[in-house]
Amino acid sequence: MPELPEVEAARRVVERAAVGRTIRALTVTHPALERSISPGERRSVEGRRVTAVERRGKHQLIRLDDGRVLHVHFRMAGDWSVGRRRDPAPRHTRALLDFTNGDRVALVDSRALSTLTLHESAADALPALGPEATDPSLTAAQLGDALGRRRGPIKPVLLDQRVVAGLGNIYAAEALWHARISPRVPARSLSAQRVGRLLDGMRFVLTAADSDPGRYSRGEGVERFRVYGREGEPCERCGRAIRRIVQAGRSTFYCPHCQRR
Ligand SMILES: [Zn+2]
Repeated sequence: MPELPEVEAARRVVERAAVGRTIRALTVTHPALERSISPGERRSVEGRRVTAVERRGKHQLIRLDDGRVLHVHFRMAGDWSVGRRRDPAPRHTRALLDFTNGDRVALVDSRALSTLTLHESAADALPALGPEATDPSLTAAQLGDALGRRRGPIKPVLLDQRVVAGLGNIYAAEALWHARISPRVPARSLSAQRVGRLLDGMRFVLTAADSDPGRYSRGEGVERFRVYGREGEPCERCGRAIRRIVQAGRSTFYCPHCQRR
């Protein structure tokens, strides 16, 4: 699944390809997208210019010069592929944005779960989202307040994008390892000191990954993870075996020895 650093890298790709360009045609090639963006909506973006491509959490917002916004979410397996209109469409293409200069951006997705919708404004496009995990203005006190209002163990709470936006399954587990916090500890029970460590851990894993996001998509990512995908391997900090548990239907990896409750 694309995590925040990969979505940010993808956003930059489409930003370079699309900003300042005028849309010649928007074509969708999958039944789910045909339902989510109507033929009239598709025609209505023809001739519109892309003014910006922004990201909030894992949501991408392609802003048009009439104020409207194309909202894209990759879900499990989406990505962009940039080429020219005369090229054959890439495998698993679900939508094509053709520009008047002959460039083309394809939304590709082997699972076909990505979403593409048109909205009157960015506010209409986005669900309620918490602050960005990487936003430097987010304080430990604010994060502690948000966690204090939640029931349940910390790991699933970190995946709730209303608490903090942008943390996915892999980096939530990694951040907890760096912070030496058990994924099973109740979110509302964390001390201020531990919340501070958690915020540091979130920023560390997201920015370290951001320095080379392509590595993850090339399948090399597991090598640099401390706990994710490492069940039974020794913890790099204490040497004990990494354990895998399932929380809220998602795999969680952690060190039961040095990630304390
Ligand atoms: Zn350990």
